[in-house]
Amino acid sequence: MPDIIQLVPDSIANQIAAGEVVQRPASAVKELIENAIDADATHIKLIVKEAGKTLLHVIDDGKGMSETDARMSLERHATSKIRKAEDLFTLHTMGFRGEALASIAAVSQMEMKTRLADSELGTLLVVEGSDVKRQEPAACEKGTSICIKNLFYNIPARRNFLKSNASEYQHILDEFQRLALSHPDIAFQFIETDSLEYDLPTGKLSQRIVNIFGKQYQEQLAVCQEETPMVKIHGYVGKPQFAKKKRGEQFLFVNKRFIRSNYLNHAVMSAFEGLLPDGTFPFYVLFIEIDPKHIDVNVHPTKTEIKFDDERAVYAVVLSAVRQAIGTHNLTPAIDFDADVNIIAKLSQESNQSKEVYFEERFSNALPQSNRGNWEKLFEGDEHRSFFQSSIPPPNVHTLRFESAMNQPEGTERPEEKILCQLHNRYLLRQVRSGVMIIDQQAAHERILFEKFLSQLKSQTAASQQSLFPQAITLSAADFALVSEMQQEIEALGFKIEVFGKNTFIVNGIPGNVPMGREKELFEGLIDQFKLNQSELAIPIRENLARSLAKRACLKSGQKLEREEMQSLIDNLFACSTPNYAPDGKPTFFIFGLDKIETYFR
Ligand code: ADP
Ligand code: MG
Repeated sequence: MPDIIQLVPDSIANQIAAGEVVQRPASAVKELIENAIDADATHIKLIVKEAGKTLLHVIDDGKGMSETDARMSLERHATSKIRKAEDLFTLHTMGFRGEALASIAAVSQMEMKTRLADSELGTLLVVEGSDVKRQEPAACEKGTSICIKNLFYNIPARRNFLKSNASEYQHILDEFQRLALSHPDIAFQFIETDSLEYDLPTGKLSQRIVNIFGKQYQEQLAVCQEETPMVKIHGYVGKPQFAKKKRGEQFLFVNKRFIRSNYLNHAVMSAFEGLLPDGTFPFYVLFIEIDPKHIDVNVHPTKTEIKFDDERAVYAVVLSAVRQAIGTHNLTPAIDFDADVNIIAKLSQESNQSKEVYFEERFSNALPQSNRGNWEKLFEGDEHRSFFQSSIPPPNVHTLRFESAMNQPEGTERPEEKILCQLHNRYLLRQVRSGVMIIDQQAAHERILFEKFLSQLKSQTAASQQSLFPQAITLSAADFALVSEMQQEIEALGFKIEVFGKNTFIVNGIPGNVPMGREKELFEGLIDQFKLNQSELAIPIRENLARSLAKRACLKSGQKLEREEMQSLIDNLFACSTPNYAPDGKPTFFIFGLDKIETYFR
């Protein structure tokens, strides 16, 4: 009997591979955009028609390809991204298999135009089912444009298998959103049959989220950030009361690669335990950064699964990061977006009404009260207490110094007659005309200190108190450089610091209005908070310093207050220019209206 085994021709091998890599138009979109990202593009444009079934076009301004590379890029297992087996363990690119273009070209009519930045002319390649029909020099923009027409034109069975346009379009949208979320530093455009669906400028992650999902996401995001020697986590989680009935707006990325992981999703959901109404799912966009040597992405050609060498450790970090984020409801400040929280202060200055009347009228209805029940679970019991305490234990109550009352609204009764009580050592209850004002003592004090520090920084008038036992603080080289750079500003806050050997400062004095005895924690806390803010917010150095110190030095929830202290806190809060929000955008108080109370007794 004659031998019957033959190698399959390349075009057929490519078609077979295409079955794995290109299941639908969305898979081609993913591969093409990933290639553009790997080519260091700063602008990526995606154009689709009929859900990508007739046309799919990705244009980038990346590094482009030479004539030969353009041709090579269509060969199977041809890649510029790995050269040796070890490279698989240090991957920093999205692609590495060298299969995508070969596969797509095998099952479509492709037109590629590409030009290197320093070449005058680019090259045009016309390919049909792996067959290069034409290659010629062409004038084109720097970068690469790949246009895919009639995907699966030569595999009718495949084409017939595609779902409705609506469903295929949704798949494309999913891929687009994932890639756009993980690359806020790249501008993206998405055009669907002549209509510009998304136009995403470069910006911070928070802005990208809002640009993709809508302005209403602004208020629902809580910052999530955690760093351990093994993994770093950053991103945003949606506050529980905004959870949706449908799953889907949950994004997990590992080294910027979107992944699915039931296990890690479980970690996130566990952090929300007890806070979500049944059958709802919170929003999250979380990025895990981990040394590529601890993961294996080579599990599946579409690469949405990945293996960690220590999955349990990652689980624990994710759980704790999300818990912290929702526990402290460390809201993304409005300042992070374009909205201006200070508008309220401006409005209030323009108004002739007394502040109290003004705030009552403005905010008794404006502050969100819906769904509070779920949130309040956070405030019950001791197990959650730690969420509210930073690394600095609460200051001793007797060392708290509030400024004396200023700007007491005219014609109002003295507040001491109205303070009802301190609730769970966290909130102050105070009777106001329209009902009961509930003040969050920590948020309020943070606001007070923030405005104080900021004005001291501007006027350079901070008082300092001499430390009894000056403490030496050794920092990392990077932190030392940071502090040296800002030494003037840090001293303007009231710290007295002095260089003391390599990477070390001595703290001789601390700001006048914070408790003594924990200089080292306070100073280190200031630097940590400053860096955290710096990575999340585009705010000036001074504002960041004032915010960081206010956050670290403020009175914490759980701290019992004397009557005079409560009174002073309230007086000082309403002497602030923006009393209604903590510097990070969290409300400092809300008013529970009499009318609302009445509804419970009807
Ligand atoms: P992989 O991305 O796994 O390397 P692909 O088949 O997707 O495999 O691409 C093959 C090669 O073609 C890439 O390694 C890259 O060198 C080149 N390439 C593909 N798309 C682009 C692009 N948009 N810009 C520049 N080079 C590209
Ligand atoms: Mg690729």
